[in-house]
Amino acid sequence: MILKERSKSVIHRILESLNHRTGLSHAEKVQYENQIKGFDGELAFDRILNESDISGLILNDLLLNTKDTFYQIDSLLITDETIHLFEVKNYSGTYVYKNDSLYASSGHALQDPVAQAERKRAYLHNLLIKLGHTLDIQVCVVFIHPDCYIYDLPKRETILFYGQLPGHLKKLAGTLPKQSDENLNLAQQLIIRHDDLYRPTNLPAYSFDQLKKGIRCFNCDSFSYNKSRQNIYCNVCGHKEEATKAIYRSIEEFRMLFPDIPLSKEVAHTWCGNDWKKSRIRRVLESNYRVHNRGRGSYYTDD
Ligand SMILES: [Zn+2]
Repeated sequence: MILKERSKSVIHRILESLNHRTGLSHAEKVQYENQIKGFDGELAFDRILNESDISGLILNDLLLNTKDTFYQIDSLLITDETIHLFEVKNYSGTYVYKNDSLYASSGHALQDPVAQAERKRAYLHNLLIKLGHTLDIQVCVVFIHPDCYIYDLPKRETILFYGQLPGHLKKLAGTLPKQSDENLNLAQQLIIRHDDLYRPTNLPAYSFDQLKKGIRCFNCDSFSYNKSRQNIYCNVCGHKEEATKAIYRSIEEFRMLFPDIPLSKEVAHTWCGNDWKKSRIRRVLESNYRVHNRGRGSYYTDD
């Protein structure tokens, strides 16, 4: 049972937005491509896990922190006896394992994924103690890309390649006892601790004035649409979306990009491309947020 769905990280969504609203530097493009690749790998992992019929509680993309150190867990499978911590890597091509490090064919050294996952295991272990649980944690690093080969990798129980994953999960499913809801409480405690607002420090620099304004198509990211009273219709892919939803979605994108700029009717109006009546923008704001300082100078927040 999936208790927490996977979603794109804040940095992924910000880079995606900037990619369509301004240009990305070469380094940012590389960063963006890595985000896409990582996310695709996690989705591929999810598909195989979903097909495995494993009973247990699944938490995806948990962002936790311990003493100012943030760590992201790609997937947690909580069963009655054990917590399985999956670290998913979508590396493709050939690598060499040497002196506890992984080297790409370009010669670049990568962090040892097993050591990375073990660190997360230690953090989670301490958190479980704090929460009063004593479940054993097993770490598994999954190289999910079908075209990934690592030379000289010592045999380690903790590493699985794409071709091994279905069999491993099937075996695991066969050994799991019937699940009770005992650990539901633990799963919920972990979800509460998930930090949805975490913003990494390596964000690109950008400003409101510099970004292209308007509503991006939900489906293809185009800014070009026709509108009726109720809906907008993308001129590129034909996607239809309720206008109110499209405006709200766009305002949420603004809030993600600019958490420090107060959300006013004027700002939202400009952000949506000056293409909607201010009264309409105000209605969307009023039905989704709380208004402060009525009249001129009013702004909207969640609470
Ligand atoms: Zn479209």
